[in-house]
Amino acid sequence: MRKRWISLLVTGLLVGGALTPATPALAAPTFRVPFPCGQSWSGQTRSDHSPAYAIDFNRTNDSGDPVVASAPGTVDRVTDLGGTSYGKYVRINHGGGYSTYYAHLSGFNVSVGQTVGYGKVIGWVGSTGGSTGPHLHYEQRLNGADIQVRFNGGLALYWGTKSYTSGNGCSSGSGNGTVDTSGTPLTVRSGPGTGYASVGTVADGTRVTIACQTSGTTVTGTYGTSSIWDRIGSGRFIADAYVYTGYDGYIPNVPRC
Ligand SMILES: [Zn+2]
Repeated sequence: MRKRWISLLVTGLLVGGALTPATPALAAPTFRVPFPCGQSWSGQTRSDHSPAYAIDFNRTNDSGDPVVASAPGTVDRVTDLGGTSYGKYVRINHGGGYSTYYAHLSGFNVSVGQTVGYGKVIGWVGSTGGSTGPHLHYEQRLNGADIQVRFNGGLALYWGTKSYTSGNGCSSGSGNGTVDTSGTPLTVRSGPGTGYASVGTVADGTRVTIACQTSGTTVTGTYGTSSIWDRIGSGRFIADAYVYTGYDGYIPNVPRC
């Protein structure tokens, strides 16, 4: 009896858990690469970094290069720790518990309480604090805890080094791509997934204008496996895995649908 009762209780809990609506989490800000529009930076993650999910950014002759706010917010810390830890660093509060850190700066361009938007220069790359060479140490945190970095909704590479191109402060607009199916026409869907109705096709080689991008069904196509879908018209979506856009993930200055 007891065993059965426990089993029923567990079942009840599972069902209860499944039916209980989750507390709606505040949406994360759309973070962008913390450098001016169009710049490409090498970002390194490593498991022995402190904190673990921070990214160290570098590029050639980067000392003194501008660092920009990765999302709108309010500067809530402009601190110089001297020759230890972050050295000169800025923290931006983005609301909803989200904050970003920019460390080892050579100088500051903002003050506490200042409101900043995308692309606002907050300081310059340096090597202050516990740093052995110029780089930007960058973190995203939620309620004070280090979280895995996302740019434009896409997860950073863990672990390794990857080039990140900034879409930060670019005028937001549409993107372009070329359909590449190696021959077969590509099915256009009414929504971002293979489960949506087919509403037509686009021929191989067609140049498309991408108004926005979103996440949907994972598709394996000419350019690998991706869950990104491109909106090419009203109620018209195609799988990004079949579209050459020049980018592995989301196109930097194209908005999320
Ligand atoms: Zn670092």
